[in-house]
Amino acid sequence: MRGESRSIVLRYDDAAAVVRREAVRARAGMSGRRGAERVRLGEASGRVLAEVAAADRDMPPFARATRDGFACQAADLTADVGAGGLRVVGQLRAGEVWTLGEIGPGQAAEIMTGAAVPAGADCVVMVEHIAVADGRIRLAAARELVPGENIVPVGAEARAGDCVVPAGRRLGAAEIAAAAACGAAELAVFARPRVAILATGDELVDVAEQPLAQQIRNSNSYSLTEQVRGAGGSAEIAAIVRDDAAATEGAIRAAAGCDLILLTGGVSMGKFDFVEQALLDLGAEFFFTGALIQPGKPVVFGKLGERYFFGLPGNPISTMVTFALFAGPMLRALGGEDEWGPRFGMARLEEDVRVKAGLTRFLPARVESNVRGARVKRIGWQGSGDLAAAARANGFLVVPETADRVGAGEIVTVIEL
Ligand code: AMP
Ligand code: MG
Repeated sequence: MRGESRSIVLRYDDAAAVVRREAVRARAGMSGRRGAERVRLGEASGRVLAEVAAADRDMPPFARATRDGFACQAADLTADVGAGGLRVVGQLRAGEVWTLGEIGPGQAAEIMTGAAVPAGADCVVMVEHIAVADGRIRLAAARELVPGENIVPVGAEARAGDCVVPAGRRLGAAEIAAAAACGAAELAVFARPRVAILATGDELVDVAEQPLAQQIRNSNSYSLTEQVRGAGGSAEIAAIVRDDAAATEGAIRAAAGCDLILLTGGVSMGKFDFVEQALLDLGAEFFFTGALIQPGKPVVFGKLGERYFFGLPGNPISTMVTFALFAGPMLRALGGEDEWGPRFGMARLEEDVRVKAGLTRFLPARVESNVRGARVKRIGWQGSGDLAAAARANGFLVVPETADRVGAGEIVTVIEL
């Protein structure tokens, strides 16, 4: 029996809100559902932390000198201007222990960056600000010294037991370094969600085959594999699915062991577009069957039993854009990530853009950025099948659905894939 499909076409904001709702729901139900695994710190890049990384001691563990210079009492050296200077009672390198007692009035210790400031001293004066003569130091020029200058107090960064990297954080350079500082040689991370990639289309052949004139190489499975990896998932490419109801159903059934199913193609209004019908016949629940966006309008999102699926339009740029907008965020949430939303940025538009209002547009563009900000310029394309244009672009310019024109010089939203 064929069920009746119901059309649910949402504005971009509403479609994004549906994904957000499901992403929040998926994250809330994460604990215990997919086990965490332990990885060595050096292999943790891009993984999502399943337990907090906590400080195992105060950070810093001692009052740390942040400059090469002299540790002394701030008031003492400030008041000394024109007098006899402070006597240098010893030298302290990073990693050394000071054994010469408290620094009292009239005394200073020569100290290197990263060393523990000796008791009694309340500031470190930079070596650049000091004149040294006969084992005594004085300020090279009059200046007010403040207690605490060039010292990070014990525990100012984190106290023993404090969370330094929260669970749910994707591990990049800073998080890995912070975990290393906490002594975490191994980390508990969430298992990578398994993502089935099903490309549909009678015209498709694999990249290793020689296509006939009327055939098209399957590129979507490869762009999606890349995007899935970037979103922390593990991609499993299935064989190309023919445009046939039974074949489509069979391929979806075979993907049931995955956490997320991505189909490409077969979601438009064509006579041989079977994806929606196959999902419906399998008992799927649909959250939306289209979004008012271009490219990517026929995008489908729903749940099949406990599994989420997306039917992504087959045109290669539509596939990439709808992944970036909807499937990628859902996947990051399924992977336990706490920051899973699409990553938009801002840039100044270089040239006027005219479109027809009514759809939120994502137009291939070049974004160039420097320390003062980013500039964006549209690049020419032959529509959402133009992979050569996609390869020239490094991002997409977003035109809101209400606009039919955006002027040069305006600040616009961009999304980088
Ligand atoms: P569809 O969404 O199935 O109507 O396909 C729309 C367009 O995208 C057609 O021109 C297809 O040939 C093309 N297309 C569909 N799937 C793929 C794929 N996996 N790789 C490259 N192009 C595709
Ligand atoms: Mg097709």
